[in-house]
Amino acid sequence: MKQTIYLGTLLMALAVASEPIAVTVNYSNQAAIPNRILRAALKEAEFLFSKADVEINWVDCTRFEGALEIPRHCQHADPTRFRVTFKADSDMRAVTMGFAYPTIGSGNRAAVIYSRVTAYASKHSDMSDVEFILGVAIAHELGHLFFRTTEHGDGIMMPQWDRVQARKIGQRGLRFSASQAETMRTALAAR
Ligand SMILES: [Zn+2]
Repeated sequence: MKQTIYLGTLLMALAVASEPIAVTVNYSNQAAIPNRILRAALKEAEFLFSKADVEINWVDCTRFEGALEIPRHCQHADPTRFRVTFKADSDMRAVTMGFAYPTIGSGNRAAVIYSRVTAYASKHSDMSDVEFILGVAIAHELGHLFFRTTEHGDGIMMPQWDRVQARKIGQRGLRFSASQAETMRTALAAR
């Protein structure tokens, strides 16, 4: 009897985990990141979220930046979509690779500063390729939006990365924890 209950719980857990939450993310490459690197980085971020059962659908809105006519699906104000802007540089003094606004407006805007990513990547070039680092930076900033908080935590959500993290990123070992995945999915489902 005890075994049956255990199996039932296990099956329920598997059923929950196998149903990913789909999320649409608009991005705008304002940093002229080479296509090859950006594509690989988006794929890496997508992989990291897939491990947390969150499915990312990317929409390239780069060419509409500053345009007079912006299609509805690329408009900033659309609250059903998340938005990541890749910036070449920033005058923000904090040593950060990006920022996110999880509590401002629709809580759907984030940015990644490419020069900070490449600076970290060249410092630890023996540990990881830049596309993996960019991928984790994207996952981190989107993580803030999905969690709806600027707070930090373990793994991908660590506030600062040093050499240890660079090695983990290179080995594709920096992930969202199981409990982070659950929190994220609950927060996304509640939006
Ligand atoms: Zn952060």
